[in-house]
Amino acid sequence: MATQTKDYYGILGVKKGANSDEIRKAFRKLARKYHPDVNPGDKKAEEKFKEISEANDVLSDDKKRKIYDQFGFYSDSIDPAQAEAAARGGYGPGAAAGAYSRAAGQGAQEVPFDFGGFDFSDFAAGARGSGAATESSGFGGSFKDIFSGMFSGGQKQARGPQPGTDLEYQVGIDFWTAVRGGVTRLEIQRQEVCPTCKGKSVTGGSMTCPECNGTGQVTQMGGRMKFNIQCPRCGGTGQIQNTCATCDGAGVVMRREPLDFRIKPGTRDGQRIRLAGRGNAGTNGGASGDLYLIIKAGSHPIFKRNGDDISITVPVTVTEAALGAKIEVPTIDTHDGGGRTQLKIPPGTQTGQKLRLREKGVPSATNEGLRGDQIVEVKIVVPRVQDERSKEILRELAKLNPDDPRAEMMEAV
Ligand SMILES: [Zn+2]
Ligand SMILES: [Zn+2]
Repeated sequence: MATQTKDYYGILGVKKGANSDEIRKAFRKLARKYHPDVNPGDKKAEEKFKEISEANDVLSDDKKRKIYDQFGFYSDSIDPAQAEAAARGGYGPGAAAGAYSRAAGQGAQEVPFDFGGFDFSDFAAGARGSGAATESSGFGGSFKDIFSGMFSGGQKQARGPQPGTDLEYQVGIDFWTAVRGGVTRLEIQRQEVCPTCKGKSVTGGSMTCPECNGTGQVTQMGGRMKFNIQCPRCGGTGQIQNTCATCDGAGVVMRREPLDFRIKPGTRDGQRIRLAGRGNAGTNGGASGDLYLIIKAGSHPIFKRNGDDISITVPVTVTEAALGAKIEVPTIDTHDGGGRTQLKIPPGTQTGQKLRLREKGVPSATNEGLRGDQIVEVKIVVPRVQDERSKEILRELAKLNPDDPRAEMMEAV
């Protein structure tokens, strides 16, 4: 493949004896004019940009420039020794290329840096000093990336809509509120859209970045090399906007506010209630998160809840249990019968036996109109007899009922 002879000096518009600084400035000026990011879709500009990049690639590299000056063209395939012999240049192999690659790699990863700000005199001095082969083939390829990074860096920092996060609160409610429902008030601390900047984080117009004085670049030293990196404060735009003083740029402010919310009848302990859109506010128009309330329902000394069922232990006398009785038991209903209901104790009821009162439990929070049951556990209370007459009656009762309640157990062992 024939190597075309090109007038790199002419392309960059510099004199043949131009120093590295002049070449750098000329290239920077042209690059800004012809960069594809500045001329989207313009094929001619793109060609021009490739041309000036190539010219700069060669002329900004002392070793390549030497080859170019010697032969009138540059090719990677030219044996450096041959070129050196021809040029009788004192440039030994240098570690400079390696050092540069590392710097470029870092730059591309973290802060895109403007190669145009590179101090070539330092670079050349380094090359002379330490010496190693120049491997510049990757140079041109990464160059464009560095440049596009520089041009689009400012846009990357622009924040789009950010959704707000969800909030979770544990809410303690008492037994009766959980059973019957009600309204509970809670202090919620949540992020709200900043009333000053409306969540945009900035107020007013833009101003010159004080960090870089509007140049978009700040100088950084990397060993012997000095290069300009994109200003981290303004993202290379040279302009910053007034950070909103109210929210300190967060776009949201913390606010404590009372929140009244309805507890449905039959709400259970551990239940999760979702209040859509009541979580932290989003920024830049992002949607709000949700608010989750975890219900911690209180207990009751008499009524125990088991889902929608209510359990209660009711003491009954020996006589009631033996002969059967109609007794009154408390229920969670206060409106009918003053919170009591009649329960029939069948004759011969034993202690621990469970009797069911249908639909006297908790109204279902999920199935409207349905109620749980009340489970009554019977606990027989034995009379503490003191008088001789009562004792006599009990002995007589035992004689009339000689069955051994442990007989079955004894046989089973
Ligand atoms: Zn800046
Ligand atoms: Zn604000």
